Amino acid sequence: MQGITILGATGSIGASTLDVVARHPGRYRVYALSAHSRVEELAAACRQFRPQRAVVGSPEAAAQLAALIAGLPTSVEYGEQALCDIASSADTDIVMAAIVGAAGLAPTLAAARAGKKILLANKEALVMSGQLFMDAVREHKATLLPVDSEHNAIFQSLPSSYARVPAASGVAKILLTASGGPFLNRAVETLDSVTPDEACKHPNWVMGRKISVDSATMMNKGLEVIEAHWLFGAPADQIEVVIHPQSVIHSMVSYVDGSVLAQLGNPDMRTPIANALAYPERIDSGVAQLDLTQMAGLQFFAPDFERFPCLALAFDALRAGGTAPALLNAANEVAVQAFLERRIGFRDIDRVIRHALDVVPHGPAPSIEAVLAQDARARAAADDAVSNLASGLQR
Ligand code: NDP
Ligand code: MG
Repeated sequence: MQGITILGATGSIGASTLDVVARHPGRYRVYALSAHSRVEELAAACRQFRPQRAVVGSPEAAAQLAALIAGLPTSVEYGEQALCDIASSADTDIVMAAIVGAAGLAPTLAAARAGKKILLANKEALVMSGQLFMDAVREHKATLLPVDSEHNAIFQSLPSSYARVPAASGVAKILLTASGGPFLNRAVETLDSVTPDEACKHPNWVMGRKISVDSATMMNKGLEVIEAHWLFGAPADQIEVVIHPQSVIHSMVSYVDGSVLAQLGNPDMRTPIANALAYPERIDSGVAQLDLTQMAGLQFFAPDFERFPCLALAFDALRAGGTAPALLNAANEVAVQAFLERRIGFRDIDRVIRHALDVVPHGPAPSIEAVLAQDARARAAADDAVSNLASGLQR
């Protein structure tokens, strides 16, 4: 039986992972679960899966959880070091990295350094420190399996799953599909007044609020371009974004002979999660088979970089290299949070990011400490921009 640690167990990906794990009780044993502050949800998961360890974000949350699950064989801990411990423990084989944002970096890196099989949902960790993270994976012989649906589709469509694109024979391009999110066809002038709830109403996927806003700005696709660069070794010029509103094709690889290989499926994250969990085997995910006869039609078109300036910013950051993607990611996290709290408007998100990228010079990324220092500077610059915009909004 394989032990599994789920970082971010109370989130959208965490819940889908637990759903798949519950379908295979003889195959997986839940070793540890984590959450930040949603203690009741974590307590419910502890009652169902009886992990050895549970980690939350604060001593208060830990006390609350301990009271809720008194009598269970689960020890309760809190804080970043505890997250790193459950990700690197000898008692776990698999680590699902599903914490949202930069907070996931330290534990995901700890899993890499401990040589674990990592199921990577937390794209922000890879965007922040791609080279350092991939070096740690190689050095410690960790296994990195992409959970993000597009990257899992590419993984399945490459000539061999661990192929590196520039060296892989015959790969011409990675075609990263994007739904275009809820504002694909909305008049650009009206985007100033959209609410957080409208931005979070994704047409095809049910996800956490941060990634939902990222999908509405298409920063999610921008982060995924950077993620694809690191996972598959593809330079920016070999990654193309294709809008495909139906989200049935999850991404494609095109080859020099004109072949295009794709992975299709219903838009349900349990498919890539099950694929990564059992790789190279296949297990039941609970997702219904795709009924192609029910498809009204599949559309594809090029993205509009003026409607979605965040996508252009991400391509620029990837080309700039070094700490530029970390700056982009940090400023985006601040801007999205400010938008969700209604302190800035939707179209201010890219303004905040641009400001941070303008005032914080990027440079090489020689260490995690250097990346985190840049991350902190970008957050401070983005906070300034948010304050200025927010005071403008109040006037
Ligand atoms: P959610 O917001 O639904 O869940 C986030 C999880 O992380 C929760 O368990 C949350 O705990 C925990 N968390 C939040 N902040 C912190 C923190 N500071 N420290 C430790 N833990 C924290 O997000 P999703 O499940 O949607 O996304 C998770 C990751 O997966 C993201 O990186 C996203 O980009 C990626 N992803 C998600 C997809 C999806 O379909 N949802 C698809 C592809 C990638 P609590 O509940 O207590 O707040
Ligand atoms: Mg995705």
